[in-house]
Amino acid sequence: MADPLQEQDSAERALALVHQTAGPYLASLADRPVHDPATIALIDRLGGPLPESGAGTIAAVQRLLAVAPEAAVHSTGSRFFHLVVGGATPAAMAADWLTSLLDQNSGLFVGSPLASKVETIVLDWLKDLFGLPSEFDGVLTPSATLAHVTGLAVARQWWARGHGVDVAADGLTGLPVMPVLSSGYVHPSTRKALQILGCGRDSVRTFVRDDAGRLDLAALERALSELDGAPAILVGNLGEVNAGDVDPIDEMADLAARYGAWLHVDGAFGLFAAASPRTADLARGVERADSITADGHKWLNVPHESGFSFIKDRSLLAATFGAWGAAYLPEFDAERISYNMLGPESSRRARALPIWATLCAYGRDGYREMVQRHVAVAEHLGGIVDAAADFELLAPVQLCVTCFRYRPPGVPEAELDELNARLGRAILDDGRVYVGTTTYRGMTVLRPTFVNWRITEADADLLVAVIRELGPGLY
Ligand SMILES: *Cc1c(COP(=O)(O)O)cnc(C)c1O
Repeated sequence: MADPLQEQDSAERALALVHQTAGPYLASLADRPVHDPATIALIDRLGGPLPESGAGTIAAVQRLLAVAPEAAVHSTGSRFFHLVVGGATPAAMAADWLTSLLDQNSGLFVGSPLASKVETIVLDWLKDLFGLPSEFDGVLTPSATLAHVTGLAVARQWWARGHGVDVAADGLTGLPVMPVLSSGYVHPSTRKALQILGCGRDSVRTFVRDDAGRLDLAALERALSELDGAPAILVGNLGEVNAGDVDPIDEMADLAARYGAWLHVDGAFGLFAAASPRTADLARGVERADSITADGHKWLNVPHESGFSFIKDRSLLAATFGAWGAAYLPEFDAERISYNMLGPESSRRARALPIWATLCAYGRDGYREMVQRHVAVAEHLGGIVDAAADFELLAPVQLCVTCFRYRPPGVPEAELDELNARLGRAILDDGRVYVGTTTYRGMTVLRPTFVNWRITEADADLLVAVIRELGPGLY
């Protein structure tokens, strides 16, 4: 029998094993494939029945280390362009290890004054980085999806209040469907948040003026005026995942002001546009939003799980999440903030520490530079694609996404979707670079995204080389 109480001194040795793995692993990222599909079979070595008698600390950690670093998707390296996935800066990674070492329960101030106070510090720093007024309150979340749950729960509280109901206390019974209006850029996670909140994922009405999903502002305004003063939620999308386009947030804020609506902004990655003067215009007006979602594990390059929600009205935030009503829990105290009264979680990780470390390490300059570098990489790839006879650029590059398809001369239009889908699969099987396909304006296309701090132009050049190597064999 192995019992941790009998193995107390094994923690340091187990950590040393992880540490010994770290250096060679990080060094290998430059050359190894992003993923080797053959390693999926290795994962089965971790299967089998629940151990009756434990292997002990060291043996268990060794067994995991024999599989996990090999079988992982090496998205923390510089050639993972799929989805929107950041890496982990050296400072963030080290602070994330420290977070596990200290294992703070960061829900209540009494559980960790350290985590609570650092959370307040990093929320202030993040507001500063994004040019948001200090009046915004906020809370760290595990993801943008949970930041949507947070922001839209507060929006729902506000909306129900407009109907004379305290939804936190009494629920949704008797209320109409909450009107949620957006463009075609609305992300599935917004719908998921609405689904969780009992507002229905299909309640979102979209107003589009083209097949990319761009907002039809006039139609949105007509819909608002037809609501006749009833409260409504506008969702502005600051960074659409197929091509990196944005909704006109400032104009949406004008409409929200004119019709008394709530403006929620999904800035999961796009909020970082505000960190550079070259892209800040894309985010213009975001400071006028009522609630804002963003991710730490994307462009901030903090390890998963990291997101944040900013809310303009603290009293609403506290009304939505505050009343636990349990005798053993303290009352809300603005000097000793218990962040679980400002968000959906109870016990939570000290996810402020890696955010603090990375912002301290690289500062405003470092993040401005990183955002500009990634936009430049996306533009660099866009330039290659646009000039080439075998590629087609499908949207202007504005942020960190390049949306294009492979279009070698002579392949009929009707076969291009299937060719690009095959190409997408071939790239993932090859593994040197990692990129996904999507459907954009009815076409199957590639949409590499550049938000990992390690990425440079050379990585985008490799993507082009890999496509030109694999592509001709596919048609
Ligand atoms: C990634 C993303 C989300 C969801 O973020 P998670 O952190 O994965 O929950 C929401 N909106 C946009 C625009 C995104 O890119």
